[in-house]
Amino acid sequence: MTDRTDLHPDTLAVRAGTHRTEFGEHSDALFLTSSFVVDSAEDAALKFGGQIPGYTYSRFTNPTVTAFEDRLAALEGAERAVATASGMSAILGLCMAHLKAGDHILASAGLFGSTIQFFNNYMTKFGVEVSYAKPTDPADWSAGVRPNTRLFFLETPSNPLTDVADVAAIAEIAHANGALLAVDNCFCSPILQQPLALGADIVIHSATKYLDGQGRVLGGAVVGKSEFVEPVYLFLRTSGPTLSAFNAWVLLKGMETLPLRMRAHCDNALKLAAWLEAHPAVERVYYPGLASHPQHALAMRQQTGGGGVVSFELKGGKDAAWRLVDAVQLMSRTANLGDVRTTITHPASTTHGRLTPEARAAAGIRDGLIRIAVGLEHIDDLTADLALGLG
Ligand SMILES: *Cc1c(COP(=O)(O)O)cnc(C)c1O
Repeated sequence: MTDRTDLHPDTLAVRAGTHRTEFGEHSDALFLTSSFVVDSAEDAALKFGGQIPGYTYSRFTNPTVTAFEDRLAALEGAERAVATASGMSAILGLCMAHLKAGDHILASAGLFGSTIQFFNNYMTKFGVEVSYAKPTDPADWSAGVRPNTRLFFLETPSNPLTDVADVAAIAEIAHANGALLAVDNCFCSPILQQPLALGADIVIHSATKYLDGQGRVLGGAVVGKSEFVEPVYLFLRTSGPTLSAFNAWVLLKGMETLPLRMRAHCDNALKLAAWLEAHPAVERVYYPGLASHPQHALAMRQQTGGGGVVSFELKGGKDAAWRLVDAVQLMSRTANLGDVRTTITHPASTTHGRLTPEARAAAGIRDGLIRIAVGLEHIDDLTADLALGLG
């Protein structure tokens, strides 16, 4: 089923990865079991040794988790996916498996706050060098390469400023310098963007966001060619931050509506971005689907939609931003994104609040910035809600 390459994403989202058992269940079964019984001592030896496929222990893998991995791999057009307990543990697994002391990560300056903290506070502790390049300027990536650069890491569109990086151009620079390119595809999901087809080697997911889509569970994944994913799998099965079967089952249900939801998120977000752009209290809107976005043409080439996240700067700075966050009655004041419910955050004091002021300034996170992850409520109700606090 997952081997078929002629199927559309809408079909893969509901069909790929389904492994029916002898009972013929139509929906995906949930295997809540920590270990699996073997037939004989020899069977155990072969399964533990990896000489024959089969399940032994759910830290290694579990059938429900495999179904999630296979469905995500099919949607990304990848050979293999390995599931993790969260998006951050996907990034942890990637780095532990592919880097060693003395290596260098060249990362985008526009990354999720915890990713920057993980690189700066922990990878450096183990002798891995980290430096940052401008996501929108491939020349800055060329200039940032060191003889020991092993990994390029970027998000596109970036969080929260929606900078769009040219994946094909940056992949070429990485490969010319013997480095791997990993792309965090959380904002787009495979429905809007397939980084592997653009030249990336590895895709990272926080499944917590659009793959679940309803704000219920945490999860993550590392996706790509088997040769790049296998070392990550070996690290995870040894160290433990693997995905639980229950969360995998919830994610399988979520992914069935992923194509539908992504199109609806994009429609709503484009309407909201256009409405904000015309509002006198708003200084600037960041949304790749708007013609005014600096990388609009690139975004429309490598994505099939603008995505669900809209950020904007208010003329009134932090006071105006906090006033807006406090005034909304419908939108949820929470930092999560990718939910059917619209969420509103003030990045400078939440998701990026633990960065030093210098690091925050370098990431372009100003005090008047608001990020909205546009959900599936009616657009008129969303604009009315914002009008309360922009007045
Ligand atoms: C949320 C997020 C992460 C981290 O994912 P968790 O599931 O919260 O660990 C990584 N990258 C991006 C872009 C995110 O939005």
